[in-house]
This record gives sequence, structure tokens and C-alpha cells, in this order.
Amino acid sequence: MKTVEQHLADVLSVVGPLGAIDLQLAETHGCVLAEDVYAPAALPPFDNSAMDGYAVQAADLSGAGADGPVALSVVGDVMAGSWQSLAVSSGSCLRIMTGAPMPAGADAVVPVEWTDGGLARVQIRQAPREGQHVRRAGDDLQAGEIVARRNGVVHAAQLALLAAVGRDHALVRPKPRVVVLSTGDEVVEPGQPPRPGQIYDANGYALTALVTEAGSHAYRAGIVPDDIDRLAAVLDDHLIRADLMITSGGVSVGERDVVKKALSRLGTVRFERVAMQPGMPQGFGTIGPDATPIFCLPGNPVSALIAFEVFVRPALRRMAGFGNVSADLVSARLLEPLSAPAGKRQYRRAELTMHDGEQVVRPYGGTGSHLLAGLARANALIVVDEETTEVPEGSLVEVLLLTRTNG
Ligand code: AMP
Ligand code: MG
Repeated sequence: MKTVEQHLADVLSVVGPLGAIDLQLAETHGCVLAEDVYAPAALPPFDNSAMDGYAVQAADLSGAGADGPVALSVVGDVMAGSWQSLAVSSGSCLRIMTGAPMPAGADAVVPVEWTDGGLARVQIRQAPREGQHVRRAGDDLQAGEIVARRNGVVHAAQLALLAAVGRDHALVRPKPRVVVLSTGDEVVEPGQPPRPGQIYDANGYALTALVTEAGSHAYRAGIVPDDIDRLAAVLDDHLIRADLMITSGGVSVGERDVVKKALSRLGTVRFERVAMQPGMPQGFGTIGPDATPIFCLPGNPVSALIAFEVFVRPALRRMAGFGNVSADLVSARLLEPLSAPAGKRQYRRAELTMHDGEQVVRPYGGTGSHLLAGLARANALIVVDEETTEVPEGSLVEVLLLTRTNG
């Protein structure tokens, strides 16, 4: 049997980052940058007011205080988005709004709260320092300064910055397009009464959702019966839209394990027994003229989902250009003893919580790879290495976090 490490290493030796493409700014969200972006101009682009108030010459107001306000004449207004030709000279000021460009001659802004709010003449009760409440051009970034680095991820704040410097496109690694296919004569769509012996397609939905949560584009291609020719035809049809394919089911040694039969023939997909529980049978390789990577995951839902976390998610991260492809592992204190099989890495469904400022973890539900309800309630997997068979209560264990948005 092959180790988990070896299988993952084999997978990662086959998949590589997708070629960079230039995308419209909104489309780059969540992608890895393939270029260094520099600011074409300063940010902010011009000196502007940080407050609603009055643009003044600070020297005029050196004597202003609560007991002795200083009056200035108001010679006009400057709004955000306007460009004021009026200048401020000694004894005068302009009413100014937040974000409006600083008028010539002014060197400080007096917030409206320090004044009587006058329109023609204003009484000012507090003296500003020179430069106070003025946002200087280039405060944030100088022209030519780096805005975002190659290999960085475009999250919301990075998008904001790219837009702020005027970029409407960027060179990024595209999100992998992933086609998900379920196999099995017994597998049917939810929503219709099952005939005896039929089950609903859990894997197609789960794997599509996991792909989406992993930041890739998922396409659920439905269910294919256990028929070698049909499977080959459907795979062929979908190759055009796939950077990666995932099938589930049909990889054991049963009579009907057609995925294995169909793809073994190609010689580029290998079916192996990986020393893990659940998830032992694993198929991986490439198909089609572009050598598209394909994962053939086991049919049992828990096995399929765990195999996704252990092998597929790192592959997707590699394809998307992420530097770090390894799973998110944390360490937590075990609340109950557990036993695990010798020679296999075990992934135990578990509930991870905080207790007295420490992360603690409790195994959850059975170990059967068909027991989906326990997985649906779990938020983590306890990882027990190949050599360990007994883990006493209170031990520190490695825990793999499952994707959660809330709850
Ligand atoms: P297989 O690998 O095809 O032998 O399937 C192993 C087990 O997983 C069998 O009990 C199947 O009925 C079940 N199974 C296969 N595909 C799915 C699926 N898409 N959703 C839920 N269960 C499945
Ligand atoms: Mg099957």
C-alpha cells in the first residue's frame, strides 16, 4: 500500500499552476496575481480635506480660542469632485467637504465642529496646526511604488487598492474549472422517489460545493451509469470545459467498478490502495489530448469528501498558483481516548471547540465511510498517523479544519 504522503507527492508532481491570463478587475477576485502591479500615480492623487469644514491659512488662526474666536470671510465652497479656481488668502477661507481638493493658498482644514458654521463669515474657536486635517498626495502610495505583488492573492482589500490606483484588469492565474461526475447504476438525483435499491447522489453535490468553497469553478456533470462506453463518452464530452475532473464511485474491485476498468485501459490513470481510513482506493492520472488531471475518488461519501481534503484541495491550490498547498492543520487537546488502525492514517470526524482558552477536540460518530450524518455535524478531522494505534485522553492531536462559513 502507498502512503498518503507518497500519493499526495505523486499528485503534486503532475499538476502545475495554470497559465496566467489577463482578467477584468472584478474577475480577479480570489485569484493569485501573476504580475507585480505598480502605482501609475500617487495615491491620494491630490492634497484633499480629511474633514467637512473650512480650508484656511493656519497662521491666521494662531490666536483663536474658546474665549476669543477669530472671524474669517468665506469666499466660496469646494465640493468633493470639484476643482476650485478660488484661492485662500490671509483673512479668508473656503468651505470644504471631505475628499475635496485643497485650494491654493490653504494649508489646514478647520472642522466645522470648531466653528459657528457661518456661510459668509465664520467664527473659529480653535487653532489648527499647519497641515492639520489635510490628506497629502502620495500619503498612501507614491507613483511607481508597488501596489500588489506577484503570487499574492486578490482579496477584497487588494481589489480595493487595484481599483484605487485605476487598474481595471490584472494578470492572474485563472481559477481551475472542475467537472464533477458521479457514477453508479444505483445513484439517482434527489427529488424523485427512489426505486428499491437506489440511493441519491450525495457525492456530486458535496464535491461541487467543495470545489466552489476552494475557490475554483465547479460544474456538476451529473450521474453516469456503470457502463464503460457511456462513461468514456461523457468524460470525453466534458474534457473541453475542464482543467481538472473528479469522478466518484467505481474504483474498488467489484464487477461493476467501471471507472477503474475504463480508465485503466488508458494507461495514464493509476488505481492504487492508499494507506488511509477512510478513502483507501484512489485513482489519479491524466486523460485526453491536453493531459487533463483526473481524480477517481471512492464512492462512499465520507471517503470521497476526505479524499477531496487530502488530495484534491492541495491540487486545486497548486493549479490556482498558491504557494502553500498544504491543509490547514491545528493542534488540539483530545477529550476522549481513541484507537486507530495500525499502518493507516486515520481521519476521524470530530468537533473542535474552545475551552478555557484552549482548542479541544472530541471524536464524533462512527468510523464507517458511509456514515455521512456524523460528518455533516463535524467541523474537523482528527489526523492519527500510521504508527499510532491508541491515543490517550488529554493528548495533543493534529486536527484538519473542515470548511465552514458559519455555525
Ligand atoms: P463504489 O465505489 O461505486 O463501489 O461505491 C461505494 C459505495 O458508495 C456504494 O455503497 C455506493 O452506493 C456509494 N456511492 C457511490 N456513489 C455515490 C454517490 N454519488 N452518492 C452517494 N453514495 C454513493
Ligand atoms: Mg459504484
